Amino acid sequence: MLQHLACTSRSVLTLLATLAVAACQSTTTPTAPTTDDPDKPNIVATSTIVADLVAQVGGDAIDLQGLLEPGADPHVYEPVPADSIAIEQADFVFYSGHNLEPALVDLILGAGSGVPYLAVGEQIAPLALEKEGQRVADPHVWGDVSHAIVMVEKIRDALSELEPEQAATFATNAAVIVAELQRLDDWIPVQIMTIPEGQRAIVTTHDAFQYYASAYGLEVIGTLIGISTEEQPSAQTVRSLVEAIKTAGLPAIFAETTIAPKLIETVAEEAGVKVADPKLYSDSIGAPGSAGDSYIKMMVSNTCSIAINLGGSCTPFEP
Ligand SMILES: [Zn+2]
Repeated sequence: MLQHLACTSRSVLTLLATLAVAACQSTTTPTAPTTDDPDKPNIVATSTIVADLVAQVGGDAIDLQGLLEPGADPHVYEPVPADSIAIEQADFVFYSGHNLEPALVDLILGAGSGVPYLAVGEQIAPLALEKEGQRVADPHVWGDVSHAIVMVEKIRDALSELEPEQAATFATNAAVIVAELQRLDDWIPVQIMTIPEGQRAIVTTHDAFQYYASAYGLEVIGTLIGISTEEQPSAQTVRSLVEAIKTAGLPAIFAETTIAPKLIETVAEEAGVKVADPKLYSDSIGAPGSAGDSYIKMMVSNTCSIAINLGGSCTPFEP
């Protein structure tokens, strides 16, 4: 404001006006980006995992709003009015896809929305799993870190197309996170290999770890429910899961942060095994300050929980 007044008073002297304006322009540009800069694009992301990757790539050059809270289950999430408003006001929306968050995707693709979007998880060819006799896409693609690298690159490309003048920033940010993800992708199998060979198998509440297991040398020997959390397990499913756990001789099975643990605790009790601590982060990163409050930290926490609870060990991950 003082700068502005000084310029106005000086401009009364015609002879000096040009110089004064030039001086003011040179001292008022460029401005540092701030979090409420109206020039920044409004970006919306659905799942906390996608939002975390978008935040890493976009950095200070975007205003980002994530719709799902940490710990919320995307499969059964019911949108609230604020979600519709955020989507309507967005310049671009990133969602996960392969039917991970069906109700939010209905909103994004719904009549009249017209907002440009990218289904980040759908950039990965999905595993097809059997569900009630039908083959459906498994949405949990981020379980394989090499997929997360592809997702980061697709996010970088979409943001660069939206804001070409920030493309160099997005490229630099993406290169940093990709390098960390490559180190993570190398680190995980080293931890899994510490598990005694006959025990490299997991049982989880819902079927969210097929990509992880296949990438890092584990077998999913059973889950209480399928790839969505909408269904309830039958008594028969519970019985056969208990038998499978006993047969495999596993020391522990795994609960997940986005699903109430009661049923998996019952299974563990009947099978005479423990429920691993900490729980696994399946479809959401953890709350800020928790051990899994970013995609990388959630993968590290999961890997250490799996390795240690199955009889192996875990070395610190250096990002
Ligand atoms: Zn899931």
